[in-house]
Amino acid sequence: MKTALGIFLLLSMVLGFAQNHSHTSTRALAFPDIAGYVTLKTDLHQHTVFSDGEVWPTIRVQEALRDNLDVISLTEHLEYQPHKDDIPHPDRNRAFQLALEEAKEHDLMVINGTEITRGNPIGHCNAVFINDANRLMEKDSVLQFAEAKRQGAFVFWNHPNWSWLSPTGNPIWTDFQEERLKKGELHGIEVINTGYFDDASLALALKHDLTIMGTSDVHGLVEWDYMEKGNSRPITLVFAKEKTETSLKEALFAGRTVAVFNELLVGKQEVLVPLLEASVHIEKASYLENSKILEIQLKNSCSSRLLLENATEFSFYGSPPLLEIAAGETKVVQIKTLEILDTFSLKLKAIACYTAPKKHPIAHWEVVVE
Ligand SMILES: [Zn+2]
Ligand SMILES: [Zn+2]
Repeated sequence: MKTALGIFLLLSMVLGFAQNHSHTSTRALAFPDIAGYVTLKTDLHQHTVFSDGEVWPTIRVQEALRDNLDVISLTEHLEYQPHKDDIPHPDRNRAFQLALEEAKEHDLMVINGTEITRGNPIGHCNAVFINDANRLMEKDSVLQFAEAKRQGAFVFWNHPNWSWLSPTGNPIWTDFQEERLKKGELHGIEVINTGYFDDASLALALKHDLTIMGTSDVHGLVEWDYMEKGNSRPITLVFAKEKTETSLKEALFAGRTVAVFNELLVGKQEVLVPLLEASVHIEKASYLENSKILEIQLKNSCSSRLLLENATEFSFYGSPPLLEIAAGETKVVQIKTLEILDTFSLKLKAIACYTAPKKHPIAHWEVVVE
């Protein structure tokens, strides 16, 4: 998992971003809505002192507000509670209740959730939208999944590539997972956890039509674990019909998500492409004087830096075919269209984005020339 991150960081350095890499001024995460849906920024995997985290639940709410999130879930381990002697609260919903109280005055949804924490075959799974975590305690794993389903939970497989449970770093899909899937007890899979991306988990998501998830799994402070290292926390963008708990749940079950970690965006083609197209605004397009060179001004309105490669049949003029646009930045690209056009079909391949292992989406803008 570290190798993947290493390659990603190396790529960033080779492309020359390390120098001006700063997220501190743009901590608030921002992504535009797409046609027909509101884009909800969620982090549905976090811990507090009520399991093995290091902070009180109210801190998670305050961090989420700083990051401009729309939804959080505190998913305390059920079976693993190292602070139990100091915080012997018998109610496993307590972290949720404290966060809910703190969030009351703010525009932040708090969803009740928990982490089912077992060894193989299933490993760790989050169940969110539960109504009582206590009822999931002290049951065997099969019964836990049945109970989660009974409560109407959305269940996703956490860090399936974790080398503690899978020495190859590849998720181990067994009859147990197959049975959960068939019974409607498993709905999603993390492809990004704590900043680690796993393309074998992405392949499983696509193969079994599981919802693509990205989460921070934060235990310390978001400030320490992410910001100080120059990162934003990983999140899942959920494309919901409305900003309500019901719509959020519908969208998660329907698989309308994009997992995000800094520049890395991972999702199904049908939502990732519209997200990219909504994130880049064409501000201006006109020909350079006495030339057939089209100049297009683009603005990136999302909080992820975008790396876009020329996917048109034409060449860029005076610059390499790779365009980097930081969050909120405006860039100009010049294209040798060889003749004067009224409209231009701009196609850019987002090379830090994935719709499948090693597969990048191509976004498309129909540009009207002034
Ligand atoms: Zn876990
Ligand atoms: Zn966890």
